[in-house]
Amino acid sequence: MLRSLAGLAVLLAAAAPAAARERVDLLIRHATIIDVASGKSVANQAIAVAGDTIRAVGPNGSLSRRYTAKANVDATGKFVMPGLWDMHMHFGGGPELIEENKNLLPLYVAYGVTTVRDCAADISPSALEWRSAVAEGRLLGPRIFTSGPKLEGYKPLWKGTIEVGTPAEVNAALDRLQAMKVDFVKITDNTLKPDIFLYAVKEAKRRGLKTSAHTPYALTIVQAADAGLSSVEHVDYLIKAGSPKEAEIGAAYVAGKLTYGEASDAFVETFDKDYAAGVYRELAKRHIAVTPTLNMGRILAYLDREDHSKDAALAYIGPGLRKTYDWRVERSEKATPEQISARHKEYELSKQVMPMLVAAGIPILAGTDAGYLNSFNYPGQGIHDELERYVESGLTPRQALVSAIITGPAFLGHSDRYGSLGQGKAADILILDANPLSDIKATRAIRGTVLHGKWLDRAALDGLLADAKAMAN
Ligand SMILES: [Zn+2]
Repeated sequence: MLRSLAGLAVLLAAAAPAAARERVDLLIRHATIIDVASGKSVANQAIAVAGDTIRAVGPNGSLSRRYTAKANVDATGKFVMPGLWDMHMHFGGGPELIEENKNLLPLYVAYGVTTVRDCAADISPSALEWRSAVAEGRLLGPRIFTSGPKLEGYKPLWKGTIEVGTPAEVNAALDRLQAMKVDFVKITDNTLKPDIFLYAVKEAKRRGLKTSAHTPYALTIVQAADAGLSSVEHVDYLIKAGSPKEAEIGAAYVAGKLTYGEASDAFVETFDKDYAAGVYRELAKRHIAVTPTLNMGRILAYLDREDHSKDAALAYIGPGLRKTYDWRVERSEKATPEQISARHKEYELSKQVMPMLVAAGIPILAGTDAGYLNSFNYPGQGIHDELERYVESGLTPRQALVSAIITGPAFLGHSDRYGSLGQGKAADILILDANPLSDIKATRAIRGTVLHGKWLDRAALDGLLADAKAMAN
């Protein structure tokens, strides 16, 4: 009797609120949620997902009473945080590699990357098309932000650029980019004149567009920041900024007294820690962000002693893209012992610069530079390598996570939808086997991913990896 009464009570308890319970698509239960902003983790939480949006987050018991779901995920013992953003990658390598580039989209997802920022290359029409296709749910991939074609000077080394040499040409280029609804403007300095660089940065800012750039050696980084540049791509420009002789060496390069490589080495040789700390504080005041692409620097610096030919991740890269890796390898093989040791020195200095940037309050955008040309810098895996390099350089795991979860959305003006797990935020979620606040390597231990609201368990992610391998071979 007692038993059946108790059973009845359980049935009633389950049945009565059920009618009042809201039905959602997905309920992640018993999760430990990582709050990246505060560095706290909160145990036994639940996340309700409806469509591509988080409906509610709260204690497991209360959410279980408020929601029923089409799919339930038990995250007992797991750590849950937003998906990763790779803020510097490239779709490119020529029209014949469009399919191979497209095949990388699910690979990013398999590695927990739910958003990428394409920093320009030579297949921008495809990148723009994929941006729409992913947003409309027609293509499985990370959300794409793209610069479209970048701005350069006349006849640059890079293909697929818009060549500008006068203010009128910059205006016309920005009109074109705005018509494409690009997410930011990428500017590089291979042949771009410094005055046109400054004009482009200012004019883009006037139009409400963010700019990311390689800065001409003729200008100091503070000059670029004063013009309104939004982000510096690659940490070596922060070494340059940290040299008290920055302007002098830049002028010697412009005068043809130093080659690009010699000028670059001279910035390293004359870097001064105290001076640099002051400059970084000035840059922070100007709200400029930095995408260090530290791992790329490391890979290139140590090509002389590290054999990548057996890297497991090579299996996911198509033959055409793999072939583009040769360029840097061949260049590296021609390096003299002095050049090799200068590269090692530059990388070791880059590592010292990283915690200085954070201490100065400069936002770090985690980005890989993965795509084509950049040898052994693997799409997907690369962001985990990048975060590991940050921690090796002295950042805390939380600071590393901030760079891949919070600063990217803030930079692109999307903090309302991204950066944390809360009501109304995008349902881009990683479920991890271990706590990344204790060990950054835990970002690699992905148990499942919610991609724009769609649940992909480990088997589904392994399926994406298997597909990527099959397509690449
Ligand atoms: Zn790049």
